[in-house]
Amino acid sequence: MFVDITQIPLEGLDLHFRGGEDFLDPSGERVHLLRPVEATLHFCRTPIGVWVRGQISSDLQLHCSRCFELFALPVCEGFEMRYRDPLGESVEEEHELGRDELDVSFLDGAKINVPGLVRENLLLALPVQPLCHEGCQGLCPRCGINRNGGTCLCSPASIDPRWRKLESLL
Ligand SMILES: [Zn+2]
Ligand SMILES: [Zn+2]
Repeated sequence: MFVDITQIPLEGLDLHFRGGEDFLDPSGERVHLLRPVEATLHFCRTPIGVWVRGQISSDLQLHCSRCFELFALPVCEGFEMRYRDPLGESVEEEHELGRDELDVSFLDGAKINVPGLVRENLLLALPVQPLCHEGCQGLCPRCGINRNGGTCLCSPASIDPRWRKLESLL
């Protein structure tokens, strides 16, 4: 699914994209979709290229980074992206580009890859350290019990002091 930027009408172009698991790249082992990714996108021509505004929603399944349990994470993210049309160069716009240079992606040809655009923004919306909930207690470093669900008999005092340093890294 591509948008040919030369075909975007003056009033802009609205698109709806729906993607199942297969649209996420195969290296995305850590992300499973509990429902398809839905994205509404609006494409607009600008003097230097294209401006895209979008909204992505889905329910993802991730592993908690502390207790390693699977949990559901609802995602609802808005984003904006600007593309620069390499053919639409103009010295005058160079200045305008400078202001928000970081947001600007260069277009490779006259087409925007829609699944790629949605995938990129969905992955950006993921937490770096996903947590099943804010106060997740994680696993006991000695016996491995999930401390959210139960308690164990390992007391912190019984930990060999040589492990203390390691524990503080967990
Ligand atoms: Zn957790
Ligand atoms: Zn324990």
